[in-house]
Amino acid sequence: MKALVLERKGELSLREIDLPLEVGAQDVKIAIHTVGVCGSDVHYYTHGAIGSFVVREPMVLGHEAAGTVTAVGSGVHHLKVGDRVCMEPGVPNMSSRASKLGIYNVDPDVRFWATPPVHGVLMPEVVHPAAFTYKLPDAVSFAEGAMVEPFAVGMQAATRARIVPGDVAVVIGCGPIGVMTALAALAGGCSQVFISDLSAPKLEIAAQYAGITTVNIGEVSLHETIMTATDGWGADIVFEASGSARAYHGIFDLMRPGGALVLVGLPVEPVTFDVPASIFKEARIETVFRYANNFDRAVNLIASGKVDLKPLITDTFDFADSIAAFERAAKALPTDVKIQIRMPS
Ligand code: ZN
Repeated sequence: MKALVLERKGELSLREIDLPLEVGAQDVKIAIHTVGVCGSDVHYYTHGAIGSFVVREPMVLGHEAAGTVTAVGSGVHHLKVGDRVCMEPGVPNMSSRASKLGIYNVDPDVRFWATPPVHGVLMPEVVHPAAFTYKLPDAVSFAEGAMVEPFAVGMQAATRARIVPGDVAVVIGCGPIGVMTALAALAGGCSQVFISDLSAPKLEIAAQYAGITTVNIGEVSLHETIMTATDGWGADIVFEASGSARAYHGIFDLMRPGGALVLVGLPVEPVTFDVPASIFKEARIETVFRYANNFDRAVNLIASGKVDLKPLITDTFDFADSIAAFERAAKALPTDVKIQIRMPS
């Protein structure tokens, strides 16, 4: 079958690839319908590596996917042929200590689509464990189904934050994950979410959502804005979603005493932060690595209408134009949130 293959750093090709498609007892086979282009896919294309994950062999890209079940293993009972589904791309060793603890996202043995040496899913068919495949209700389109994966990161951030109804939150960074985090925080009970960035076009996209207040830090002080809004008390939760080292400067000044800092953005280098400032407020610091046990709840929120991810899908390319889709995504236009690729049906 034809797949979008990253041959090596900077070189993509749409070519035939032979991959095993045997359906095990606990697996399903899925005809892929829609795949979102993720920042990590683009990074492997432009840099050939993310941290210690280095592209050494040709690798199929794509991990944000939705499709239709075409075959089910003999031991699968909750899915049937014809079901529309989205897939969780990270599959842990189910017997590992991390999996037994429910933190399978940090299982050292997790195999994650389009993370070397594991192939992704920008191809017509894939076999996946049924336990990591989620049925989409009729109200959720394939395009929205392919948004569940990035939204699950926001869900993980909101879950780790332990939101209490009425909380005020700040999200630093208005990239795709920042917006997903803001939407999950609102769905999780926050009364108001401030989101900051330097890019006016990015903030404009977030501003269309009720409950989100945008702060352009090129024009106004985030600290002053938060203090004015909270009568000098500070935000209950600060989500760091920019990955920028500069964001850590004064970050605890945004937070109320006893508040939480949730680290979502991944800095490229180690960053320094003010330990005394965190201690004086007895700040709770949480970190987010992908997600665990959030896909089903993400699907439910989208189906309920409480979370609308459709405005974040900027453009859709045909599979035949996948390379152009990646070239577009690599430009990182501030007006592009999510680029998707649709397989021929
Ligand atoms: Zn992704």
